[in-house]
Amino acid sequence: QPELSGDFGELMGWADKVRRMRVRANAETPHDAQVARDFGAEGIGLCRTEHMFFEADRIVAVREMILAEDKKGREAALTKLLPMQRSDFEALFKVMAGLPVTIRLLDPPLHEFLPHSDDEIEEVAKSSGMDAQKLKDRAHKLHEFNPMLGHRGCRLGVSYPEISEMQARAIMEAACNVAKETGEKVTPEIMVPLVAKREELAFLKERIDCIAIEVLKENGIKLDYLVGTMIELPRAALTADAIAQDAEFFSFGTNDLTQTTFGLSRDDSASFLPDYMRQGIFERDPFVTLDPDGVGALVEIAAEKGRATRPNIKLGICGEHGGDPDSINFVEGAGLDYVSCSPYRTPIARLAAAQAKLRKNDGGSTA
Ligand code: PEP
Ligand code: MG
Repeated sequence: QPELSGDFGELMGWADKVRRMRVRANAETPHDAQVARDFGAEGIGLCRTEHMFFEADRIVAVREMILAEDKKGREAALTKLLPMQRSDFEALFKVMAGLPVTIRLLDPPLHEFLPHSDDEIEEVAKSSGMDAQKLKDRAHKLHEFNPMLGHRGCRLGVSYPEISEMQARAIMEAACNVAKETGEKVTPEIMVPLVAKREELAFLKERIDCIAIEVLKENGIKLDYLVGTMIELPRAALTADAIAQDAEFFSFGTNDLTQTTFGLSRDDSASFLPDYMRQGIFERDPFVTLDPDGVGALVEIAAEKGRATRPNIKLGICGEHGGDPDSINFVEGAGLDYVSCSPYRTPIARLAAAQAKLRKNDGGSTA
């Protein structure tokens, strides 16, 4: 049990008294959420829902959904996924017991969901009643040469709004169920990924709000929920004032923001990064430590523009940088409200947030 006690617990207590920023964790399983809480996380900053879809009993329904020919076919698959998602979210809300939970709508690289063999096609054909050859043709059509710049994030939700609607319903139903069962406050934060244009967020927010109002009415309860977005594309950062019209919070997805600012694949950089480090072109791996001049500047611009539109907009970071002390120091400077990191990095983030605050009080010198 990773309880923090003794001297280490005392040190964490000091850090908590000093720091300004909240510390959350990235988690999608009840186990990880519990680890995060044991390490002192004050909420979930990122639940990547696509990770919930890879288990054997779910991936077939997900493939049915992606490969369906029409809305009717997709809805049949979504009906299978709704109860599973609802119970996923109920479990998370219960572990987090009233702390905020940010749930991100599906952000798949589509190729990870597509069937990779004839056996997998057969499985989908059997469960959906669709013709195997048709499924194969459809999978072929969905193939992308550059999936990380393809039909992912909110783009999938715009093409197939019923997927986002199913998730919004599952989140809100779970929140209502847990609030009724435990009597605790449940505050879901619904997060739209990979927004580049405010119209994408506006399109999805309208549908999320519709579903949320419907579910709250069905349950006869009042419950606060937020709708916000990730800022993980340079265009989103530069137009954050417009995007903030529909976003109650921003969470900086610095993994993708680094990838898209440098035009550098987050999955392939290892091949030449060591050369760049040796040549002194990169001092640090930008996927580990926030690049202050490019990515960091975009974070500052977006924070400023977001606040200009919505002064109390909630701002966080949930890329890997959220657990890196130098990056935490940077976002303290940008005035973010919280960082979200992997559960096991929570104590490091608590300490780094306190050190960053002390440095800031000191006028920027090393604490
Ligand atoms: C990010 O891009 O920084 C992020 C948190 O999202 P993901 O890593 O899931 O793309
Ligand atoms: Mg991302």
